[in-house]
Amino acid sequence: MDQRIERVYETVVSRNPVEPEFLQAVHEVLESLEPVIAAHPEYADQGILERIVEPERQIIFRVPWVDDDGRVQVNRGFRVQFSSVLGPYKGGLRFHSSVDLGIVKFLGFEQVFKNALTGQGIGGGKGGSDFDPHGKSDMEVMRFCQSFMTELARHIGEHTDVPAGDIGVGAREIGYLFGQYKRLANSFDAGVLTGKSLAWGGSLARPEATGYGTVIFAQAMLATRGDSLEGKKVLVSGSGNVATYAVQRAQELGATVVSISDSSGAVYDPAGIDVALLRQIKEVQRGRVSDYVAQRSSAEFRSGTKVWDIPADIALPCATQNEINDHDASIMARNGVTLVAEGANMPSTPEAIDVYRKAGIMYAPGKAANAGGVATSALEMQQNAARQQWSFDTVVQKLDHIMLSIHNTCLEAAEMYGHPGDYVLGANAAAFEKVADAMVEQGIC
Ligand code: GLU
Repeated sequence: MDQRIERVYETVVSRNPVEPEFLQAVHEVLESLEPVIAAHPEYADQGILERIVEPERQIIFRVPWVDDDGRVQVNRGFRVQFSSVLGPYKGGLRFHSSVDLGIVKFLGFEQVFKNALTGQGIGGGKGGSDFDPHGKSDMEVMRFCQSFMTELARHIGEHTDVPAGDIGVGAREIGYLFGQYKRLANSFDAGVLTGKSLAWGGSLARPEATGYGTVIFAQAMLATRGDSLEGKKVLVSGSGNVATYAVQRAQELGATVVSISDSSGAVYDPAGIDVALLRQIKEVQRGRVSDYVAQRSSAEFRSGTKVWDIPADIALPCATQNEINDHDASIMARNGVTLVAEGANMPSTPEAIDVYRKAGIMYAPGKAANAGGVATSALEMQQNAARQQWSFDTVVQKLDHIMLSIHNTCLEAAEMYGHPGDYVLGANAAAFEKVADAMVEQGIC
């Protein structure tokens, strides 16, 4: 690393010593920015690096609620408003027992760059809670969401900060959050949240968008070497929204997806994942992937949550951060995986990424390959502002166009900075330039 960049990183480490995921995300971006900083001395003069790694605002709050047995429960809520230089803070809420400030900051930092790549005029933020909706009744989830929003409401707004879903926050949670916001604000501000239900301001294709977008990104990568998804064997991890619709779109394009997973285990289905069955289990029954195996004779249940040792051509990690380590990556390389496109946020460890590089595996980081979700949230905001609802095909066409444009932007930036084909450098450089130029224009703030 260049000395100036190194100094910035050391300050981040000393200020945030117990936030490993945040440090990992910052390191990954900073280490690829050397050629960009060298080409733009004005960025150093303006303290861009020092400012970009420090969130504009971090909010931590108590979330008290009463469970079904009448007991008082207390969770911790977070909203990190990272950067508003390109638009209102935008990014999801994650409800999961692992959520702490470091996780929210890593996600918020990634979101700044991801959102810049979409070209949609959205800043970056993220939030969440260590509350885990799994195993809770609908009423418990509702009471939690109402309490969470009672504090969050004062910090958000259509032109200020627009939260959405992430792990553990789907249509049900967004509904309860929106209902409470509306009571507090005494105003039907559809644009304050995205991922809403269709009947009251949601966008068609928003649930599908992240998974669809990741597949379109992978398809664009394959096209650069004259290849396509047709006939490919694909590994998908996870079984939430992102995974489900990545499976669906990949199979529509002629691939066979042979795996899914959740925290209870993993599934190998050589006949190809049955998306209708998966949706029934996950979306209707709120079940586990073990229920999938019980109803599908071609599938086998695997103990352990990893799917990376299954031989395949392509991997689309769609579960969570650091789910692929160097050991997994080496097995994938040996088994013939030639492309990894991330549907989750930061699913590959830095050591895994090194393995991809050495093995010549094409690799697209989440901030580029999974930007379709938040991009479609921006399309939802546009529809809300215009009081319109676009057709499914209109939204998907716009989404595909945005994904191809992100893909090409990454490749062009990588080429310009002398690293052709390096999607990590391309994504970081292109997003950083966009954010940094706006910061220069808006002055020291
Ligand atoms: N949580 C998603 C992401 O990681 C979507 C955020 C949004 O739609 O605002 O990008």
